[in-house]
Amino acid sequence: MYQVRQLIAGGWGPDGDAGELLVLDPSDGTEVSRAPVADPAAVAAAVKAAREAAPRWARTAPAERAAALHRAAAAVEAAADQLAEVQTAEMGRPAGGARGGVEAGVASLRQYAELGPVHRGRALAGPAEAIDLMAVEPRGVVAAITPWNDPVAVTCGLLGAALVTGNAVIHKPSERTPATGWLLARLLDEHLPDGVLSLLTGAGPVGATLAAQDVDVVAHVGSTATGRAIAAACAVTGAKALLENGGNDPVIVDADVDPEWAARQIALGAFANSGQLCVAVERVYAHTSIVERLSASLVRVAEAMKVGPGRDPRTELGPLVDRRHRDQVHGQVLAAVADGARLLCGGFVPDGPGAFYPPTVLADCTDRMAVMREETFGPVAPVLAVDSFDEALSRAANSAYGLSATVLTGSMQHAQRAWRELPVGTVKINAVFGGAPGGAAHPRRGSGQGFGYGPELLDELTATKVVHISAPDGPKWGW
Ligand code: NAD
Repeated sequence: MYQVRQLIAGGWGPDGDAGELLVLDPSDGTEVSRAPVADPAAVAAAVKAAREAAPRWARTAPAERAAALHRAAAAVEAAADQLAEVQTAEMGRPAGGARGGVEAGVASLRQYAELGPVHRGRALAGPAEAIDLMAVEPRGVVAAITPWNDPVAVTCGLLGAALVTGNAVIHKPSERTPATGWLLARLLDEHLPDGVLSLLTGAGPVGATLAAQDVDVVAHVGSTATGRAIAAACAVTGAKALLENGGNDPVIVDADVDPEWAARQIALGAFANSGQLCVAVERVYAHTSIVERLSASLVRVAEAMKVGPGRDPRTELGPLVDRRHRDQVHGQVLAAVADGARLLCGGFVPDGPGAFYPPTVLADCTDRMAVMREETFGPVAPVLAVDSFDEALSRAANSAYGLSATVLTGSMQHAQRAWRELPVGTVKINAVFGGAPGGAAHPRRGSGQGFGYGPELLDELTATKVVHISAPDGPKWGW
């Protein structure tokens, strides 16, 4: 059992009297962690401490900030097992995936430690020794509000980029993974001056209170609905809103690909982390000539998956994060079946403890079904047959979201059309989770705004100051 504490002005606690959160293990319902709910005074105190700490941290040499981040990365790496364990206990992710999330987080901290000191502006020559400088400066105070589904990787990326560029950060982890956030904050804080990092715990209302404060950036990774509420709050305060939100990612399966291989790709994309990834495969458009073989292979892969608690090393599919979320996933599946979808496997709520849900494949889906239109965030692969690549492209493009999309094809022409025509931030050709380490992401529409990852995140978290320098009394040489 973890007892979480908040970090404000360099001190752990006091915890305030706005109540307490209790997190239950989604595999068996046992208690995992308790966390305080930050009251408005605690939120205001964290913002005040961050404001006071920010100027000094901004003046600290970038190489010194980077060295602190390197030390923090080493500490996170040394605690990887514990961080993975608490993540699995709080949100159910199988041990291997949880460990992978921590490793990705360490890699992000190191990436930003390397990139921070060389993140720089430009200069432009004017007439006779006049010059324009573009200097980058930290934005000041960054509120980072994060989700539960990949808590270490997401948090390390945001915090690493914000800290190395000289911002003070207030982190509010998800109410579903407070102990993961707390352990991570303890590891980072040991290498930072007091007040540069604060940790507040609580649910949506605490996030809303924080987003309404006098901060310079609110960086939110989470659902589209929350992102919109945060954008509205930022419109009032003038803070910059950086939003990495939900997705409804399509995968297009072209007529010329091996359906067995395509099925394995789709299973990976739809079932990894029980479908609880922002870039999970959410809908499948498969050519009619291969759709039956594809669906049959997908069912075979789904039915062979080992479902169980995340801490069992044999488990391939852990539980959903909680029963409330399972009800939402199951509701979308039931509604699709009632509307004519064929349930090929899964689609039931198992008996027993926890929030387990089986890998589910639906055929004969239509665009009007919520399971195709909305983000399901569960281990569900809904399939719609299409007569042509054109039809697949147009259905895939027709979405309120714009996070990413995958195309499985042997045709260079189709691959080229896909990346040019799909209105999303990332297009993946022939691998659902392809991508170079350190790559950027630039979501569109309901999926957010701004770069959430990659070197470009350093631009988002800094402001450029343009300086015009000219000689007194007009242009002249030798000044
Ligand atoms: P969520 O938006 O409900 O919660 C995320 C964070 O926002 C939590 O800390 C929560 O307490 C806080 N929050 C909730 N309401 C708030 C409000 N009104 N004001 C301020 N803060 C508030 O999302 P979630 O359920 O934790 O996470 C799942 C979602 O995150 C999915 O939609 C997933 O696609 C998305 N996600 C996106 C990315 C990405 O990079 N695009 C990465 C991971 C997850």
